[in-house]
Amino acid sequence: MLAWCGERGHDLCLIETMPMGAIDGDRMDQYLPLSIVRARLRQRFTLNETPFKTGGPARYYDVAETGARVGFITPMTHNFCESCNRVRLTCTGTLYMCLGQDDAADLRRVLRAGASDAALEAAIEDAITRKPKGHDFVIDRRTTAPSVARHMSLTGG
Ligand code: SF4
Repeated sequence: MLAWCGERGHDLCLIETMPMGAIDGDRMDQYLPLSIVRARLRQRFTLNETPFKTGGPARYYDVAETGARVGFITPMTHNFCESCNRVRLTCTGTLYMCLGQDDAADLRRVLRAGASDAALEAAIEDAITRKPKGHDFVIDRRTTAPSVARHMSLTGG
C-alpha cells in the first residue's frame, strides 16, 4: 500500500479500532496495534517523523523510498487525549464531550424549555467543564464488552 500510494501521490492513514458499540465477533480479531504495523513497515521502509499536521490526531511520517506520507492514529497504543479539545454536537442537540465516555449534555431540552442565549451558553460551558481527561478504552482477551454503548457513527468522527 505504501508503494502504491507513493506512485499515485496519495497519503495513507490507518487507525486502530476502538471498543465502541456492540459488534458481532471478537474485537481482538480486529485489533492490530499500530506500533506493530510501524515496526514491520520499518523493516522495509525508512520512516522519518514529520511535523506535518492536518488538525486531526494522526502522527505522520515521510516514507523516504516512496515519497508518500503515512499517518498513524493510535487511540489504543498511544492515546492523544491530553491534547484533545474536541466536543461533538449531534443533529439531535446532544453534546458529547468525549468519544470514549457516555456523559453528554442535552441542549435540545434546554432550547425547548425556552432558554435564552445566555442560558444556552451557560449550559454549554457547564458541559465543557465536565470534559473528561480521556477515554478508558480496553481491548484484551478478558474485556469483551464495549467501553461505550454507542457506535462511532452516532457521534461522528
Ligand atoms: S477519547 Fe475523548 S478525550 Fe480522548 S481524543 Fe477522543 S474525544 Fe478526546
